Amino acid sequence: MRGAGEGLRWAACELHAHSIHSDGRLQVAELARYAAGRGLDLIALSDHNTVSGLAEAAALGGQYGSEILSAMELTTFYGHILALGVQDYVEWRGLGREGAGGAVAEIRSRGGLAGIAHPFRPGNPFCTGCFWEFEGFESGEADYLELWSEPDPHLAPCNARAFEQWISLLDRGFRVAATSGTDYHGPGREGLCATTFLGCEPGPGALGAAALAALRRGRVAVSLGARPSLALGRRGEGRSYGPGEELPPGPGRLEARAVLLPWRGAASRLPELRAELARFLWRGGSTEAGLAPDPEAGGALAAQVELPPSVEGYLRVEFRGSVRGEAALIGFTNPVYLGPA
Ligand SMILES: [Zn+2]
Ligand SMILES: [Zn+2]
Repeated sequence: MRGAGEGLRWAACELHAHSIHSDGRLQVAELARYAAGRGLDLIALSDHNTVSGLAEAAALGGQYGSEILSAMELTTFYGHILALGVQDYVEWRGLGREGAGGAVAEIRSRGGLAGIAHPFRPGNPFCTGCFWEFEGFESGEADYLELWSEPDPHLAPCNARAFEQWISLLDRGFRVAATSGTDYHGPGREGLCATTFLGCEPGPGALGAAALAALRRGRVAVSLGARPSLALGRRGEGRSYGPGEELPPGPGRLEARAVLLPWRGAASRLPELRAELARFLWRGGSTEAGLAPDPEAGGALAAQVELPPSVEGYLRVEFRGSVRGEAALIGFTNPVYLGPA
């Protein structure tokens, strides 16, 4: 089955990083060089409560091979809100416990996207405000949730809690995107960093704008290694649908295909990672299939399943296998949504 995401450019992104303009250890140019070394197309410069590094980022352009996406992390006592794509400082100092909705509206009014960073990371006294304690705001109303935070995100219990929260929001009908963010502060932390892949429309103009549009639409996949993809369609129909798209109702049997695709940044990780199966999940059910080399795409692993008529709400995929010999979730896609029957 082909069609989903065809024509899109899937940009490899790091959506959460700091420089010396807040508590990071790298200059902005060093951060750009670091991003290029990871094989990334885009890295967000999301310093705490400042945009003072953005002029430097703009002056660099893409000279190291990775673009820098303007951002700021609103670092408040009640939670950290990532403002992706904002060009100017966003005031955070007056935000009270009920202030998240206002902050999200302000970020959007400036053309940005609002994400909830590391919602379950322990807060005081370890990391002031890291734990999400805003009230009067439904997390599903943010533009995205940072499910996987820090290196080796698959191991952290606080990330598992974020993942559970996302699934419960999807089950309740929210269509909120899920990303990773290393919260990179500089060299020193060992471990695998996850990559967020955004399905960007090709065309002239900066990659940043296309990446924001992709995230807004939910064209998102996250992985420790190879790039996950998902196509959902009905037997006998010509086209299929990818993450962020909506499959209209119809009579044909549902078929889904999940693929892990090689990309330049994944090669160095191969010895640590082993992909074994794709688990297809929807509201109230799941099925799985083993991954096998895809004869149509060199180096890719694929799994295809026929789905029961009981599939409802959405379909998403988790890729499972092992990291350094330990069973692990190694990547996931955002959902394809199913329209009301
Ligand atoms: Zn933070
Ligand atoms: Zn941060």
